[in-house]
Amino acid sequence: MSGLSRWATVQVEAGSWVRRMFAEGQRLRALHGDAVCDLALGQPLGEPSPQVREALQRAAAERGAQRFAYMPNLGYPEVRERAAQDVGFPGVTGECVAMTGGAGAAVSLALRAFVDPGDEVIGVVPYFGEYRAYCAAVGARFVAVPSLDDMSLDLGAIGAALGANTAALILNTPNNPSGHVATAAEMRQLAAMLDAHRSRTGRRVVLIVDAVYRRLVYPPNRDLNAMQFYDATVLARSFSKDLGLAGERIGYLAVHPELADQQVMRGLELCQRALGFVNAPATMQRMLLHLDSWEVDLRPFQERRDHAVQCARDAGLDVDAPQGGLYLWIRSPWDDGLSFAQALAEKLVIVAPGIAFGMPDRFRLCFTARRDALETAVTRIAEVSAVELTA
Ligand code: PLP
Repeated sequence: MSGLSRWATVQVEAGSWVRRMFAEGQRLRALHGDAVCDLALGQPLGEPSPQVREALQRAAAERGAQRFAYMPNLGYPEVRERAAQDVGFPGVTGECVAMTGGAGAAVSLALRAFVDPGDEVIGVVPYFGEYRAYCAAVGARFVAVPSLDDMSLDLGAIGAALGANTAALILNTPNNPSGHVATAAEMRQLAAMLDAHRSRTGRRVVLIVDAVYRRLVYPPNRDLNAMQFYDATVLARSFSKDLGLAGERIGYLAVHPELADQQVMRGLELCQRALGFVNAPATMQRMLLHLDSWEVDLRPFQERRDHAVQCARDAGLDVDAPQGGLYLWIRSPWDDGLSFAQALAEKLVIVAPGIAFGMPDRFRLCFTARRDALETAVTRIAEVSAVELTA
């Protein structure tokens, strides 16, 4: 019998399909090397820029009496201040910011701080699969609501899911995996619905915006700051994807000034410790200070997105160009998308099955993989689709 807790055992069973496929990719890579086209995980696009690498070196070389000491749990005040400027919303100061080890930590921190055991948290399908585990970790029930066919918010479904126990709603925009970027109209209607819910029930639902891809939005789409629409908003942001630092862990949680009173910020501080994160890594925080700008050059991402869409269409696949993010979200040619993903793995193509995101009839591929791997992958995807059709 395993010594694992019952809770953890359940999580492993329910576990992340994306990670499972990643593990399968690693296993196959050990056997077949570069013949494996691994498009499962949302890896960054190449190496961090020279500016980021230099900032990292400068941060690592810094010395001072407290350089390696414990720090305030929410982060260095000057870094929090820079993050507040990055948010750029009236009233947001460094006092409204918690530096975190990426967006995953920021979402977990928000859930720990604003959600009680037994509460419900609404998540929009397709959703980042880890949300289920984050919610389970705080004893909350994850309530999945569908999107419309074009992947925009189904406000009717969200309205129907709002109830007396709803404590939070997680909105991931740009969305992983669909690439949908919430529009001003969607945000306005969602905010109106949450405000009406508060007037009716007295319950203020916290809107947790997972904005890990916010700098990867392709024109004419635009990333909007949800704080301008709804006051009980917290923004989970990250540098994993846009600066290419996924393994290093740095991001932040920004709290709307209406919500960020002293008690809430003290609560977040305590939650950082209770979750065991304690504080975001010091060197990564200092690295942010050494960067003149946190903006990224979107061109290589956009070029890669366009290339991926073109390859997929040339191979006869029916794909929409994602509005943001790093993925193609493709309808599975087989009803059972998991079987399709498994059949692809036999052909050494690793994708993330839609079941990981609550939509079993789809699959996701990440277009930051090597160009040749992507090209080979879409050709094999088309071949496997054809096999089934003629079988
Ligand atoms: N949220 C979403 C929607 C993601 O896609 C990811 C990573 O793929 C994360 C959170 C985790 O990001 P981070 O590395 O910043 O924790």
